[in-house]
Amino acid sequence: MADRYSYSKLNQFERCPRQYKFNYIDKVPVEKEVTIELFIGSLMHRVLEKLYSARMLDKVLTKDEFLGLYDAEWDTAPIEQLKVTGDIMHADDFVKHGRTALGVYYDTYQPFEDGKTIAVEQRVDFTIDEGRGFKMTGIIDRIARQKDGSIDIIDYKYQRGIPRKDDLKRNPQMALYQTGLYQLAAQQNWLGFENVQIRMIYLRQGEEFSARLEPDVLDELREQTVQRILEIKRAVRDNDFPTKVSNICQWCKFVEICPAKRHELMVQDELTADEEALRAQDLTERYLDLAAQEKTAKVAKESLKDEITELARKLEVNAFTGKRGSLSITDKEAPKFPTKTEDLDATLAITAAVKETDFDLFEMYANLNLNDLYKAYNKEQLPESLREKLAQYIISKRSVILRTKYKKPGDDEK
Ligand code: SF4
Repeated sequence: MADRYSYSKLNQFERCPRQYKFNYIDKVPVEKEVTIELFIGSLMHRVLEKLYSARMLDKVLTKDEFLGLYDAEWDTAPIEQLKVTGDIMHADDFVKHGRTALGVYYDTYQPFEDGKTIAVEQRVDFTIDEGRGFKMTGIIDRIARQKDGSIDIIDYKYQRGIPRKDDLKRNPQMALYQTGLYQLAAQQNWLGFENVQIRMIYLRQGEEFSARLEPDVLDELREQTVQRILEIKRAVRDNDFPTKVSNICQWCKFVEICPAKRHELMVQDELTADEEALRAQDLTERYLDLAAQEKTAKVAKESLKDEITELARKLEVNAFTGKRGSLSITDKEAPKFPTKTEDLDATLAITAAVKETDFDLFEMYANLNLNDLYKAYNKEQLPESLREKLAQYIISKRSVILRTKYKKPGDDEK
């Protein structure tokens, strides 16, 4: 049976491939430690589902009834087992905050006529790439039909951040990724879903954000999703799931078996750390010292190199002799493609041109190694149409290489 992917599965791989492996491939059994925020998020989804299920039967719950549903959930919730991160807020503060957020929701949306709700917690299965047979699955929180026949796909979020305006401008499909996928799913599954608006309701902040994704944005989103699935498939084929340390590690269920974090846990308490763990700590300290010295030396070396280059140009020589050896100085201009730091727009245009002309070639130069690409260009190994497109981006860059030669004992006597 073909693998089925979901937004959370793709997202987990993106955030940490190793965590994905532990979870979905090795299926490592772990004690399920749920954070209070995650718990409240799903609890709110359940309460809202009940509110709109009643609304679909023309019953409007009173605010007391609605908040009563929330309170009733807490009567049986395993509150003492929920993980609370940080030491400022306690579990009760979170519970109160969730109740206030739902109260604000009720006041904002009652009598809940922002479209006629036609489905809640609707599961959707859809094909993201017909040719490759890639399937996706997901759950849409709510679907509503407006009077003009258009459809709203509504996604509730209970998270700390909301999309930043800059992110939305720069990369709207990323900010709308999950809900956009649901738009694709809905359009593929149901008749009459041509005119769709996606709405994301941020319960924690009491904010709503909506958008209509045009076909070209949806195509791009589809392509990004296919690329993410291909990345996972490559990782499985090569058994290559690197660790990606970030602030999500503090909530990771696999931290105790993670190779990137295990040693840190071993030396957290020096009294219980074993000999080898302490030795690894000592080696790390020594290496860090040397690396710091190396960094300082590198800066000093670069500045010396500039001085040497300038003087060599002035004296019109390509070698200097010292008492302990000599330096040969290669100082020349050569054509190349610019690096990202030299010209970001040009590197993006080069990537797009390669991808558009020949996808295999793009994969071959994945993470586009521009030096190798330039060598292929120079040796006329690229298609002519691509060479024509790339020619405009070639720049001439001066590079200086210093080679050292130390005298051997006895050299002076020869
Ligand atoms: S602890 Fe961090 S690096 Fe390790 S698997 Fe979890 S998220 Fe990834």
